[in-house]
Parts: sequence; C-alpha cells; structure tokens
Amino acid sequence: MPGSGQILRRQFMADVAAGAAASLAACADGGAAEPSFPPGGYLDDHIHLTQPWFGPERGPLTASILLGWMDRHGIHKAFILPLVSPEAFWYPISTEFVLRETAPHRDRLLPFCDIDPRALGTHLTSKKLVVDAFKRYLDAGAIGCGEHKCRVAVDDPLNMRLYEVLADLKLPILFHLDNQSMMDRPGLPGLEQVLKTFPELVMIGHGKGWWASIAGGIQQEDLHRHFDAGQVAAGGAIDRLMDAYPNLYGDLSSGGAAAMLRDPQFGQAFLLRRKDRLLWGTDWYDLTTNQWPQLDLFAHFQLPDEAVTMIARGNAKRLFAIGR
Ligand SMILES: [Zn+2]
Repeated sequence: MPGSGQILRRQFMADVAAGAAASLAACADGGAAEPSFPPGGYLDDHIHLTQPWFGPERGPLTASILLGWMDRHGIHKAFILPLVSPEAFWYPISTEFVLRETAPHRDRLLPFCDIDPRALGTHLTSKKLVVDAFKRYLDAGAIGCGEHKCRVAVDDPLNMRLYEVLADLKLPILFHLDNQSMMDRPGLPGLEQVLKTFPELVMIGHGKGWWASIAGGIQQEDLHRHFDAGQVAAGGAIDRLMDAYPNLYGDLSSGGAAAMLRDPQFGQAFLLRRKDRLLWGTDWYDLTTNQWPQLDLFAHFQLPDEAVTMIARGNAKRLFAIGR
C-alpha cells in the first residue's frame, strides 16, 4: 500500500497532467490559455429555456436544471435562443425573457436575440428603428440573432432588410429552414441570394430543410422531412454553398447529428472537410427528452483531435469572440 504522501503526490501529478491537457486543448482552439474550459468541453450553440406553461407533466427547462445537465455532460457554455415568431413554438420565448433568465449566469449561458421580420413592415419601418432595437439587445448582452424561425421566405424583402442591419452590426444569425419557416426551394437558391448580397453576414443553418439539403436530387417536400437513414446523394446544396460562401456555417443540433449518421461514410468526410464550418449543439427545450445523439456523435467517426475541438467549441468561440 502506498503511503498517504505517495497518494497525494500521485493526485498532484494527475492534476498537473489534467492542467497540461487543458492548456493544450486551449492552444488547439487557437487562443490564449483558457483554464475555465475543461478538456473535451462542449459549447452548445442551441438551447431554449422555457416557461412554466410549457406543460404541467413536463415543466419548464429552467436555468438551474440546464446548468446541472450541462455539468453532467461536459457542456461548459451554451447559447440560449429566443423563439419570437408564432411559427417557432406555441408561445413566444421572448428576447427579454432570455436576457433576464441568463443574466445571473452569463459566464455560462450566453443569450441571443431576435426580431420577427414582419415587424419591419408594421412597427420598425425605418432602418434606424431596427438598428436601435438590436443595439438595445446587444447592450443587454446578446451575442447573436436567432433562432430565426418565421413564416417568411429566406430571401423575402423584409428578411433582407433585417439581414442588412445584422451585417452592419456584425451579428451572426442562426436560422431554421423548412417548408414552414424561412422557406426556400430545392438547391437553396434563395439562401444563395442572401449569402451573395451579404458576404459579411455569418449565417448558421439549422432545421429539416437545411439538413435535407446535404444531399442532391431532393424535391420540395423533402425540405420538410427528417432524414435519419439513407445514402446521401451527391450534389447537395450545403457543400456547394459552403464552397462558394465562406460566411455559411451549419448547426449540428437537433437533426444535424442524424444528417451525419445517416450515411456514415459521407458523414465522416463531411465532418472532416467542414471542420471549420460546423457548430456542435443539442437544441434541448423539452424535459421529456433524455437522449441526444450529439453527446456520442464523435465516437462514431475517426476525427483528429483538432477537428473535434473546432466543432465542439472552437468555431463557435471564434465566430462569437468568446475568450474563456
Ligand atoms: Zn431550436
């Protein structure tokens, strides 16, 4: 049996090794040493806090429940997204609610904001009014726009006016695309028009229609289908647009994991070639959900540590200038 001195020394050496691993991981992020980010730690780019009327048998996802869950799953920080449009949820998760609920936890819960683009046709009718509204959210701590999920075409003039403001403010947007929200056509020509018009605007794709577009040869109805099996046909819009537009990114939350796993050979190659364009996340909002394929996603693939670190947190930290 080793003496207690030896045990302490072993523990100390283990702590030193863990600290060194953390420093190395921080360097792989391309930034200064970040002691607060544990080795292997995730940054979840997509979570929604909810309110008590979400349902009595479920209950709301509160900040304290979320923080405990994050601790259990190695998630160091999370982006908290409002859902302001009627199509997004069955009651609005307002930006104000998100700012208030995250306020005591800003070291870990980082708020987003959003404005429904139809408000630009009714109330925020000048560019200055839209800029001022977003600036108030930025001043209150918002770091991104989204989840932008409204029944307005992705390239509708109202959305284009909103993107112009976001581009000016350098505020990235995370959007949901399917046949009910941010609608587009197969091949995503509307999204391409936006990317071409606003090359400075960081756009992060999410949702059924977005991930269906990983494959070529899809029809309009496929933009509203969740694909969790089947080979990915060549010629997908996502790869084509990512090649042409460096401001386009993908959110692996929700159906994003299934999009990688449905055709593991494609998923392996896609994760490698887009390692600088993908953000890891879960899209948790419902207490009855207790399985997230994202949590063991990387175990299904053979990726270098550098690629895993970029996807798990490095890309999000870079895009949103998060230091620790
Ligand atoms: Zn969501």
